[in-house]
Formats: sequence, C-alpha cells, structure tokens
Amino acid sequence: MADDDAIRCDACPVLCYIKPGRTGACDRYANDNGQLIRIDPHVVLDRALSRGDSVVPFLDPNREWDGNIVSGPDTFVTAIGAGTTYPDYKPAPFIISSVVQGVDLVTVVTEGIFSYCGVKLKIDTDRYLGPETNLIRAQGEPVGHVTTSEYGSQMLSLGGVRHLTGGSRRQGTVTCETLLNLCDRKPVELTVDDGATIIVEAGKPPVVDGIQEQRMRVGCGSASIGMFAKQWQGKVDEVVVVDDHITGVLSEHQAGKLLGIPETGIEMKGRRSTPGRYFRVAEPGTAWGGTNIEDPLSILKEFDPQIAWPKLRLLMVSTTGEHHAYFELDESLHPVEKNLPAELTESVARIESLKTRCDLPIPSAMRLRVSPVEERPCTCGPAVASPSWSTSLACPSAPLDMCPLQPSSLLSNLLSS
Ligand code: SF4
Repeated sequence: MADDDAIRCDACPVLCYIKPGRTGACDRYANDNGQLIRIDPHVVLDRALSRGDSVVPFLDPNREWDGNIVSGPDTFVTAIGAGTTYPDYKPAPFIISSVVQGVDLVTVVTEGIFSYCGVKLKIDTDRYLGPETNLIRAQGEPVGHVTTSEYGSQMLSLGGVRHLTGGSRRQGTVTCETLLNLCDRKPVELTVDDGATIIVEAGKPPVVDGIQEQRMRVGCGSASIGMFAKQWQGKVDEVVVVDDHITGVLSEHQAGKLLGIPETGIEMKGRRSTPGRYFRVAEPGTAWGGTNIEDPLSILKEFDPQIAWPKLRLLMVSTTGEHHAYFELDESLHPVEKNLPAELTESVARIESLKTRCDLPIPSAMRLRVSPVEERPCTCGPAVASPSWSTSLACPSAPLDMCPLQPSSLLSNLLSS
C-alpha cells in the first residue's frame, strides 16, 4: 500500500494507485476501505433472469470446489462475459473448456476495452450535418469527426483511442459517456464544428438543428429522375430534381431520352457530369435536397431562346419531395411560379409516400468494435473466414460480424442487442 492509503491495482499493466473511495483509470476496480474490489455489475445473469431464461448452477453451494472440472456431460458452461484483464501477461480469470459430442469447446473470453472502441453512426438525413473531417463535440469536448458519406447517408465516427485516452481526462470521460449513452439507446446531443447540432437516439429519427427528420431520399437526383420519369411524362415539360450530390434534369437524362422527352433549352449552374446529371449546383446545406438554396431558380441560368417556348411547364422538386415548386415560362422565357397542377400533386405526393415508407431516417448502423482475446490473435479472422473451418463467434449482448479490414476485430451491431 502507498503512503496515502492508495492501493495498487495489478489487474492490468496500467498499475493504477487508487485512493480510498476512488476508482482506477478504467472505472472497473476501486479502493473500498483498503480492499481492491471489482465494481461493475455482472449483468449477463441478470439479463438471462429478467428474460425468464434458466440459469445453470456453477457449483453445488453446499460443498467446496475440489479442483475438478465442474460441468457434467449434460451441462454446457462457457466463460463468456466472465471478463479478463485484456491482452496482457495474465491469464483470464475464467477459462472454461469442455468436450461436447467429441468436439473441443473453448471459450474465447472477451472484455471490450473502451479505449479501443468506437461507434459509427449512420445518419439518414438530407440535411447537411457539416464538412467531412470536422470535429464532433459532446458537452463541448471533441468526441469524433464527420467521416465519408456512404450512399446517401451521412456518417459520424465517434470514440477511438485519440478521444478516449489521447486528450484530457474530461474529454475521455465525455467520449466514453457519449458512447455508452448511444449504446444504451439514450439521446445524445452532438455538435459539428461549422455544422449542425444533432440529437441522436438509436431507433429514432435524428433531430437536426431542432427539426426532427421526417424522411430521407431514396436516391440522388439522377436516380429519382430514373424512377419517376414515366410518371411525369406528358404532365410537365421539364423536371429538375435538386440534390446536393447529383441534380437530375429530365429532358437531358437518359430516362428522358428513352421516353422521347424533347429538349427544353434549360441551362443549369454547377458542373455537368454526364447528360442530365449535375454536380455542385449549390453548396451543401439544410434546405432544398441537402443544399443551401432556398430559391430553386437560383440554380438555373437563362433558358436557351432557340429551344425554350412560352408556357413551358417546369417542375422543381427535392430528392425527398419535401420541397417542390411549379413554374411556367412567360413571354420573355422567365419562370413564373404557379400553383401545382393536380396531376403533378399526385406525382410529388408519390415521391413523399415512397420515401416515407422506404427510408425511415434512423441511425441504423451503430457499431462498437472490440477485439477478442486469444493466444494467437491473428488466427481468429482466418478461422472464421475460412470455408474449410467451422468456427463461430458469440457475444452475450449482440450479434457479431467480422471487420473486413481487420479480421481480428469484431463488429457488434448494438441496435440488434
Ligand atoms: S485494471 Fe483498471 S484500475 Fe486496475 S490497473 Fe488497469 S486501469 Fe487501473
């Protein structure tokens, strides 16, 4: 014991000195009146009991353990959830093996050490959350960053060693608290530097800058043109689907060409990628189609007077159908906003209803990564991936997947737990 009544925990190589009434760096061990105790509850049994599952007795409470293997042939016991000091020089406190029908069963004892864990949030919203790579803060502390958007969803990467242990103690504590709250399905407020404030809660639509998301796009502007072109044919001369990624223009798009929709002389701002598909018509934002535009006409140039004609009918709509406006060209070929004709009301409503049904805007991929503890860590991934091996991994709280880039790590989808 140290001079100030602190005791040393030797459960892992950090070797904390813990004062009375305090916990060690990992909050797993504490000094209780000079006694080193483990403080986190062992909840696996609690969960099993609360579900009404049966529990296998470890040992007859009326006799001392004589040192022999306790499980009989009719009882299958594992050490899953028993805990370990995580990869170091000491063996796990419980290692259990048994033979079932002639097959060796070995428990891979794991304990997710939070300093290596992270959560990736898939936020289904068209509203712009913030520039890629910018910091995300919780309670003012950096806890992650905006990472690459994936197929229409914005992705946030939270946690990891830099935020959990690489900064101040408060930063690590807030990061850990944020991850735990997210995984416990509690709401968490996150702020992106130069971006939005988001309230994220597993299984619920995100709240972006105070507005609860209602729906998300089923595709980019180009894909929307492809899906809805037939419904617009004959009812309108031109359609522009406004989108932060790819804005679609019906008459130029391949879908319009196949339907024989004539040219309209429309001229778009932004960068033309391929016919009817435009990049960067505006900056990202929280308005039309995930852009910063409030006035859809701001992304149009003058119509070509050699091609366009007065009374040309133009529909502009966002990828969610949330924003839409109908125009007709006047005698000088300037768009004038008019009421949406009844036949177009139906097609816009269809976009909205389709998106509402198909794309519930929830953070749907929340994953925590842990690593299995084993004698030869590199063998775990190949063993599971190999078609000639019959190996499966289990976790008491959630289904597991292998991390494709790092096979010795496991991905656990916490929304399924
Ligand atoms: S197990 Fe926790 S309390 Fe013990 S030495 Fe390691 S970090 Fe410190």
